[in-house]
This record gives sequence, C-alpha cells and structure tokens, in this order.
Amino acid sequence: MEIYDLVDSIKNVGEKRKKLLNKVGIYTIKDLLEYLPRDYEDRSVITPLSEVKPEGEYTVKARVMSGTEMLRKGRFTIVRAHISDGDGQAVAVWFNQPYLKNFFRKGSEYYFTGSFSLRNGRLTLASPDYEEVKEDNINSGRIIPKYHLTKDLGQKLLRKLISETLTQCVPCIKEFIPEYIRREYSLAGRTEALFNIHFPESREKFFAARRRLVFEELLILQLELLRIKGEIKRTKTGIPFKFSDADAILDRLPFRLTEGQEEALSEITEDMSGEYPMNRLLQGDVGSGKTAVAQICAYIAYTNGAQTAVMAPTDVLATQHYYTFSELFGRIGIETVLLKSSLAPKEKKKIKEMIKDGSAHIVIGTHALIQNGVEFKELGLVITDEQHRFGVNQRKKLASKGKNPHTLVMSATPIPRTLGLILYGDLDISTIRTMPAGRKKIDTSFVDSSYRDRIYRFILKNINEGKQAYIVCPSIEENSKTELASVKKYALELENTCLRNVRRGLVHGKMKSEEKQLVMKEFSEGNIDVLIATTVIEVGINVPRANVMLIENAERFGLSQLHQLRGRVGRGEYKSYCILVSDKKQGETAERLRTMVNNSDGFDLSEKDLELRGPGDFFGTRQHGLPELKIANLYRDIDILKEVQALCERLYAEDRFLEREENRPLKERLDEFFVGDDGGLTV
Ligand code: ADP
Ligand code: MG
Repeated sequence: MEIYDLVDSIKNVGEKRKKLLNKVGIYTIKDLLEYLPRDYEDRSVITPLSEVKPEGEYTVKARVMSGTEMLRKGRFTIVRAHISDGDGQAVAVWFNQPYLKNFFRKGSEYYFTGSFSLRNGRLTLASPDYEEVKEDNINSGRIIPKYHLTKDLGQKLLRKLISETLTQCVPCIKEFIPEYIRREYSLAGRTEALFNIHFPESREKFFAARRRLVFEELLILQLELLRIKGEIKRTKTGIPFKFSDADAILDRLPFRLTEGQEEALSEITEDMSGEYPMNRLLQGDVGSGKTAVAQICAYIAYTNGAQTAVMAPTDVLATQHYYTFSELFGRIGIETVLLKSSLAPKEKKKIKEMIKDGSAHIVIGTHALIQNGVEFKELGLVITDEQHRFGVNQRKKLASKGKNPHTLVMSATPIPRTLGLILYGDLDISTIRTMPAGRKKIDTSFVDSSYRDRIYRFILKNINEGKQAYIVCPSIEENSKTELASVKKYALELENTCLRNVRRGLVHGKMKSEEKQLVMKEFSEGNIDVLIATTVIEVGINVPRANVMLIENAERFGLSQLHQLRGRVGRGEYKSYCILVSDKKQGETAERLRTMVNNSDGFDLSEKDLELRGPGDFFGTRQHGLPELKIANLYRDIDILKEVQALCERLYAEDRFLEREENRPLKERLDEFFVGDDGGLTV
C-alpha cells in the first residue's frame, strides 16, 4: 500500500464507503491518516459497577448474564441485557435497535459507556455505547478519538478504518524530519505520532504526538515559503530598471526623505535593477511615509517605459492614493487613472482603454484591477497597499497581468517578526522605522470613566477651535451583561452632555458600504464634528483636522489595534490626543493600556501585544493570506513556531537547498508540495 493510493484500496472500503469518505475530503490513504480527531474522550478509566453512582456517566467492563430480551410497546422495541462485573449488576437498555437482540453473546465481556440512573430500584444504563473486550479496543477502555462525521459515516466505522489502515501502513509512513533534528527538538517519530494522535496510549504520548505534528506542519510551511522566495530568484526573469534620474521626482517632493525611507528605497531600487523580479514587503508604521516611497518607485517604472498598478483594499483608500499620485505626477505629464467598480460603465470603458493602450501610466484601483478585461500594455510594477487584506492569490493575479513585474507590498500593520515570517515568509522585507521630522507625538492618556465629562468638554473646546474628534466604541450590539458601550446608545446619550449641539456622525460595521462612505466623506469635508464609530475606521481614512481620539472600553482592544486607532489622529498641524477610557485600573489590562501611554512605536507594541495576548489579534479576524493549518494553532503553538523559525534560519544559512545527505528526506517531502491556487499549501 502506498500513501497516495486511493481509499478504495483499503480492505472493507468499496464504492459506497469511498463516496462517504470523499464527502469529508478523504481521497487518499494519506488523507485518511491525516484526518485528525476534533476531540477525544477519556474512556481509559473503568469503574466497578459497585462504585457507579446514579445520574453519572461511566465506562464499565461487564459480562452479559442472561439471554438478551426484547420487549415491544406499540411501535417501540426495547432490548434489555442484564450485565454484571462480579462486583455489581445493572440493566442496559436500548430503544428501537431490535438487531441488538442477537448481538450480545451470553457470558461474553463488553465495555459499556453511558449514563446510569436508578429505575424501579435498579441501576439502569440507557443506550450505552458498547464494544466487546478484545486485546486492542478502539472504542473503549482507552482515550478514544472523535472525528467530524457525515451522515452514514459514524465514529465507530471511522475509528475502525483509521486504526486498520494505520497498522497496515506502518511501512509506508515516511519519516522526513532528520534524526538529528528530532533529537535536538525532542520530537516523536512520525509513525508513533500518527498512532498516538488517533489512539493515544496516554496523555503524555498524546502531547508528544501533537507537538511532533505541529512542528512538522509549521516546518514544512516555513520551508515552503522560503523555497518560493528562493525559487523566484532562481527561475524568473524580471525587467531590470535603470534609475539614474530619480532625482527629478525627489526634487518635486515637498520634503526630504527620512533615513528610513532612503534605506527602504535603496533596497527597493537594488531589487528593481536586478534581473529577477522584486518581491518585497515595505512595512512601516502609519505615517512613516510609505506612499512617497511608492511614488518614487512608480516614477522609476515610468522612466523605464513601464506601467505601475497600485491596488488598495477599499474605495476610500484607492481614491486617497489617486489624489496623492495625481497631484505629484499630473504637473509633469504622467497620467494617473483611478479604476473602481462604482464607476459608470462609459467611464470604466475609457479608463480600461487607456490602461490597454499605455496612455495611463499609473493605474490606481481596488479589486477591480484584477478582474478579467483589465489589460495592461506594459505592466512593470505592482504595488499593493495594506496587503494583509488581500490574499496571496490576489497579489499573484494582479502580477500575472504583466511579465514577471516587480512587486511591492505595503503594510502599515506592524507585525511581530515571528508572525511576519509566516504571513510574509515568501517576501524580502524592508522596514521604515523612522518618522518624518517634526511629527508631533500624540499625547496619550489612560483614565477611568469618571473623567468622561471633562473629556467631553475638552472635545468641545477643540471643536470650537475648528478641529474634529473620533469616539470609538467596541461593539454595536447593546449588551447589558458586559456593559459594553454600544455606539448607537452611546450616540443617543451624548444628547445629555455638552456635546449635544455639535454635529455628530455614526459609522459601524452593520452599515452598507455606501452609507459608511457617505458619513466618512462628510467627516473628512468637515461637515461632521464628532465621528462615533466602531473599529471600521481603523484602516485608511486621513482627516488632518481630527485631533482627538477617544476610545471607550479600551480594555477590549489589543495593543496593535489601539495603535492603529491612535494613528487616525496626529495627521495634521494640530497637537493631537488619544484618550483611553477604562475602569480596569489593575492587572494585565491596565498594564497593556499603560504600555500605550508610554510607547509610540508600532513594532515595539506589536511585540508586546504578542507577549500579552498571543497572535489572535493578527490572525483572529484577519485570516486572509494565511494558509490553512491542519493541526497547528498559532494561539497555542507560538513557542513551537519560534523553534521552527530558528531551525529554518539555520537550515537556510547552512544548507539553503537542502542538498546535504542528512537533509535529503526533508527536501523530498518539500518536493511533494506545491502552492495551491488559494495560496494555501496543498498536496
Ligand atoms: P503611510 O506610511 O502611513 O502610508 P504616508 O505615506 O501617507 O504614510 O505619509 C504620511 C504623511 O507624511 C503624508 O502627509 C506625507 O506627505 C508625509 N511625509 C512622508 N514622507 C515625509 C518626509 N520624509 N518628511 C515629511 N513628511 C513626509
Ligand atoms: Mg498609507
């Protein structure tokens, strides 16, 4: 038997069972062995019948005493068996399973698992699970697996198929983590791990099995990403750009580049002048000036006769980029166009033609850019903004509209290195860690709700000076239990405060996109003074007159999220404030909020956030772009991920293409993989 054989090569699996297995995604032997339990039940503890207490659930090991009887009551049948373990006795009953009448053999020993009760003074076991006691039981007398099922594919059948296949497959289960690595990281062998993940011999063995399989999954994923990175460099030919005269555009920028921008730019131009396509992430905190870097890159592409595509995740952001780019480039005859789905058909058609005939040099847009029918004359540079909102696949699709164009991915979400290596492992990374000079620090404070009136008066004072404010609440649903401030209720309650006469707007996640944009537009045009919002304002919007960010129930947010919110103010000439309101003044939460007060660097905060909250903040709500994991859970397994990354770095340095004898099994395993269309790894 081979690991990639189809399931019908297993004994007892015919056409019918094959279809059932296919239904849950099991096609090959490998799929079956890697169909991991969703849960376990500990049936290793056997309770003597004499110790069983009514209204409790137990596993007992008992013999069937007298012959099994069947009673009929109208349309019901009841099968009844008297059981005894020498110590005590009970009656087991099953309803409407008449075939059980002849199933149990008198005098034979079975495991029974179920809940006991007292009926007519007798200990009774209703509809228990049963299995004859054998040398090696898989449904009782041990920790048993529970799988995701489908109709007609029950636990017992799956357990049987998996258990038998495991035993038969021992010779075809290949160990591919070299021994020296297993020793160094205390990893169980693959065969042992597979047995124990399905049928753990003990809790310890289960944990060892899980550790091994998590390690394996993360290792393959990380190595695969590194390989894609290497592969692009080895196989694809890019368009080498010359960039001798970027000065012309640098002179037109209203500022000098910061040190961080300079550095990033030199890494980027180095890439773009090479013979391989660039594949680089440009990360930098909100306001660090990524757009200017992107503009210079687009200019270099232009002087090399190539078009640039800039893709942003929302209409608002795309429009914003469009203004920034056309302002700079319009004056020097470089044509910038904006393509978004909401355009009138005639307009859209005209823009598509300009993209196709090359008269549009810089094309800015949303997802509309990757649609069929958008054709470029000479796409040489692809820039995506806020990449964590796009899948790897979308990035690839846009790039496929050119011949191996250079790719620059921009992200304003500072991500801890560990997670960055998983999310962006296939990219080279440039980081801008400096802020433009003269940027005023945002004054951050942490207060309890007794300060609220004072804060409102402060906001009012700023509004009277022509400024604007944000108030962020965590949830729109009213929930008295947790006393979350609900935006709607909150907005109403402002009627009773000194803010009753200011112009207020409301945005939340349940609104339609057009409604949201309308409110945002009003706010950015200054027709609204206070914007009350949920975190939908987190990404994008740039309103320089807004200088106060008030965050209610601040304890509900992670550091990275708070930092993103804070980045909405301090974008203009005014001194800006971020006020965190929370009544949790003690413990881990308070520590987190105080970290905000004392720290303005997004990368430092993201590392602290990972320490304090785990990676959920990044991967909880923003799964996009992350391959699906079978067993690893980035919440729980971050420590294993760190071990894996340390190992990968070493491997990459010592034996990049895994050509050494001892690493060969690992290479062979990687060769079996390819990257699926969804950006996830598939076999
Ligand atoms: P982000 O990295 O968040 O995309 P932007 O590119 O939007 O940041 O830049 C934020 C603001 O900083 C813009 O108004 C931009 O004009 C300005 N800016 C960018 N680079 C510099 C610089 N080197 N010196 C001064 N201001 C800069
Ligand atoms: Mg930006």
